[in-house]
Amino acid sequence: MHSSSTDHTQHRIETRAVHAGMAGLRESGAHVPPIDFSTTYPLPDVDSGGAAYEELATGHDLAPGRSAVYQRLWQPGVARFEDALAELEHTEGAVAFASGMAALAACLIAAVTAGTPHVVAVRPLYGGTDHVLENGLLGTTVTWATVDEIAAAIRPDTGLVIVETPANPTLELVDLRQVVAAAGSVPVLVDNTFATPVLQQPARHGATLVLHSATKYLGGHGDVMGGVVATNGDWVQRLRQVRALTGGLLHPMAAYLLHRGLRTLPLRVRAQQRTAAVLAERISAHPAVARVFYPGLPGQDPRGLLSSQLDGPGSIIAVELAGGYDAAATFTESCTLIEHAVSLGGIDSLVQHPASLTHRPVAGPAKPGAGIVRLSIGLEHVDDLTEDVMAALAAVDAMMDAGRSATATVESPQLVHTS
Ligand code: PLP
Repeated sequence: MHSSSTDHTQHRIETRAVHAGMAGLRESGAHVPPIDFSTTYPLPDVDSGGAAYEELATGHDLAPGRSAVYQRLWQPGVARFEDALAELEHTEGAVAFASGMAALAACLIAAVTAGTPHVVAVRPLYGGTDHVLENGLLGTTVTWATVDEIAAAIRPDTGLVIVETPANPTLELVDLRQVVAAAGSVPVLVDNTFATPVLQQPARHGATLVLHSATKYLGGHGDVMGGVVATNGDWVQRLRQVRALTGGLLHPMAAYLLHRGLRTLPLRVRAQQRTAAVLAERISAHPAVARVFYPGLPGQDPRGLLSSQLDGPGSIIAVELAGGYDAAATFTESCTLIEHAVSLGGIDSLVQHPASLTHRPVAGPAKPGAGIVRLSIGLEHVDDLTEDVMAALAAVDAMMDAGRSATATVESPQLVHTS
């Protein structure tokens, strides 16, 4: 897609991010996409109204001159955001949803509906994804596998192979070409939330479905929820059908904010990454720290994926405190500039304790260690963030010296999960 008569698809990502999804705007006399809140659209006559309904409800594009019929079937601002994201991810299209989990649910429902309800999944994954696969809420069954075990785990009824890279929360990297080869004809779904299309375009490595919690970097300001799947034409049609029937829609205001967020995505992602790389190194040297999980640190990318697949390690850092749960709790509660809150990918830095929150529902051995905290690095100055982290680590030292000893059990709830 392009914004007027200029074709931006050959441009660099900074340029494409600014102009993607703006087709026809200049000609319409507008500079930014208008926000259309209509829930319904006038129908010119009964015949063409019925035909438009049929086309849209079966997942086809809005044809020129047709009514959009009803917001659950088509929404122009959502379509612009989808076009833009698809352009950045190098896919034929994209389908947007109310949240990342709604996007994942649509993929799982599509797999179940096709008679292929079995999923092969590689841990670690975001806790909510892990939970919905583990409990089979949507009718799927799961085989957990390492990358080397994928081929053997695939069955005639396998509908999806699901991986996340870099993975939430400990940033494991997965070789997508290896996964795609092992999956054979089974479509591979890659959660690309942490990398964003700025750092990684999984479709270029053979992935069929590229999923984002758009709530994170794509929006980038902590003020909009959304999810999106970038994929091929066949899956676009299937996912639109699921969305039309189940109603997990992206709101027009959210679509506007996400589309606007895409325009600064490359700048934000690279600036946040620069800061994270410095912080990761500074944190590693502290004696209270057992381990820093950050793919940019020496030895953490043994397969060389940072050059072949991923254009940088991103801006999420996981830190394992030597003092276990108590140290992790003290660290989290002692950060002041960095806010204690779930979510990630925004312009302000956040810290959270995965075993208690995002990964609370994950079954015992697969749950992140109790001493691990996850930092999402924002756009603040690196020295201000360093001071905050060092003060929190000093608080950990003081707590350890004072011998804080309470131990916490982190239970797995049955159905609740956090973002
Ligand atoms: N995927 C990843 C990697 C996530 O971190 C999250 C949320 O934290 C999700 C998916 C779910 O997205 P949402 O919270 O937008 O439903």
